[in-house]
Order: sequence, then C-alpha cells, then structure tokens
Amino acid sequence: MAEHEWMKEIRNLVGKEYGRVYGWDPVNAPMARQWCEVMGISNPVYADATLATTIHGKTVVPPAMLQVWCMEGLHMNNYPPGSTTENPYEALKLIEAHGYPAVVAVNSELEFDRYLTAGEKVYYTTRLDAIGEEKATGLGTGYFVTLIMTFFAEGTKSRAEADEKVGQLLFRVFKFRPAAAVAAPAPAEVPQKAKPKRPVPGVSDDTRFFWEGTRQGKLLIQRCTACKTLRHPPGPVCPSCHSFEWDAQQASGRGKLYSFVVMHYPEVAPFDHPNPIGLIELEEGTRLVAQLVGVKSEELEIGQSLQVEFHNFDDDMTLPLFRPVPR
Ligand code: ZN
Repeated sequence: MAEHEWMKEIRNLVGKEYGRVYGWDPVNAPMARQWCEVMGISNPVYADATLATTIHGKTVVPPAMLQVWCMEGLHMNNYPPGSTTENPYEALKLIEAHGYPAVVAVNSELEFDRYLTAGEKVYYTTRLDAIGEEKATGLGTGYFVTLIMTFFAEGTKSRAEADEKVGQLLFRVFKFRPAAAVAAPAPAEVPQKAKPKRPVPGVSDDTRFFWEGTRQGKLLIQRCTACKTLRHPPGPVCPSCHSFEWDAQQASGRGKLYSFVVMHYPEVAPFDHPNPIGLIELEEGTRLVAQLVGVKSEELEIGQSLQVEFHNFDDDMTLPLFRPVPR
C-alpha cells in the first residue's frame, strides 16, 4: 500500500531511545517466591540458597521474571521517582489518531544475558525499533510496531561499577483499523421457529477420543500407559509421571455426586431451568462435570449414586448426562 503522508513524520521516531524506567523494589526473594508459586515453578534452585550457590555461585531469581521487577504495580503509569516521563508508546498513540484504534500483541521475546540476584536494582530503557509497512490482515489493516526494552542492573556506585545489561524484551504489536464485521442477517430473515442449539464442546487433539467415545455410548477416561494413573479432563501429559503416552479406559458409568450447582439465571435458551449441573466422582476415581437429569433440584444430595446415560442433541453431538439411581 502507498505510504500515507502523515506516516512519514511518525517514521522519524524509529530509532528513538526513551529514558529509564526504574523498578520500585530491588530484586528480592519474597517476590521471586510468590512468582514461582503463582507460575507453578518448583525448581529447587530458586528455593534453596545453598543449592543455588553450589550451581550458580550466588542466589538467583528466575530469569523470566525480568519484566516483573520494573512493573508499575496496581496503578497505571505509576513509576518510581527518577523514571522517564516520556511515553515510549507515543508512536502507537500517533498512529491511533489517524484512525487505527485497535491493538493486539503479536510477539513477546525475552532474552537473558545473565541471572539476577537479590539486592540488585533494575531499570530498562525503550527503543522504538521498527514500524512496518501498512498491511491488510484478517483482523484489519494496520502497522506492526516493534519496541525493544533493554534491562540493566545498576552497578554499585561505591565500587564504581558500571551498569550491566542483563536482558532484553522485544515487544511487537499490531496497531490496526478492524476489518468490517460480516453483517448479521436482519431479524426478519431469521426463521421464527429456529430453536437455539446447545453449545458444542470444544474438541482438541487431546479430547477427541472422549467425544468419539460418547458417540459410541462409552464414557472414556484417559489413562497414562506408563504409570496407569487415570486423569480427567484430558491433557497431553501425565501429572504423576510426566509421560506423554496414554490410552483410555472405559468407565462403568457409575459414580457419586461430589458437588453441584443449580443454574437459575441467566436463562440460556436451549436449556431448561432451573438447570442442575453436577461434579460427579466416578467409581474409577476421576471427576467430571455434567448435566443432571431425572431429578428435582431440591432432591439433589451430595454423595447420591448416579448413572451415566447418553443423549444426542441436534443430531451432531452426544453428551454424557447423569441420572440418580433409585435407592
Ligand atoms: Zn503416568
């Protein structure tokens, strides 16, 4: 596409370096510990200072926390004193002003030069690295804009140490004018009697066997072939032994009501309300969520015995539902 006249001025910003943004706190163990907890990282080198010292010669924090140390916190653009007041995203604002309101992040690439250790003070600077040519995509028409944040650890002044680069983040966004949405049919064209269909479950390579099973009237549970542990919902890796090998076991279909909710509101068209939904613990030990049938909401009881049955909906989907077994 031909370049817009207004874009030439914005392009002059490419290569501009924006000033420092400091972190509120030095690198510290409590933040690292909480981050590991949230991310589910159990690498002992981040919890055991002795082990870290043996391996790295110092205590270390996870490199992937690089961005964390200089974040503004709860309030937007609330950076510590001394941080730049320039807006490193000014190119995006300028492009937006010409009618490109939407933005989507497309790349986030971290590089690490070395580990950070508790007590170090981190800051970063930003360079506007590139603005691509105007491009038409499925999302809309716009510009890929690339920023590079370079992170430094401050040297100790008393020892006259220089600041040291510790890593960088390449951050690319697509700043665009959304493509026109496909017009919905006018209400008059919608057949009056079309009954809304049930939402179709998302099927992935991991879950396809389960839905093929229900089609054949079988309730299947994923099983690790290495350690025989059953798991549900299906996933690629055994949580017990981390094996990727699996097959499936057919469940008896008997189970107990482990927990439930009753949906009253909002009323969603294809369902009857109140709509009881159970968390069912199968005889085999795994649990699954399914609609409960043949029971009044007020008669539901934790621990009651249930039996699976298969219902076909809209000719293209078979769901396992559970019905109480008469005592
Ligand atoms: Zn296993």
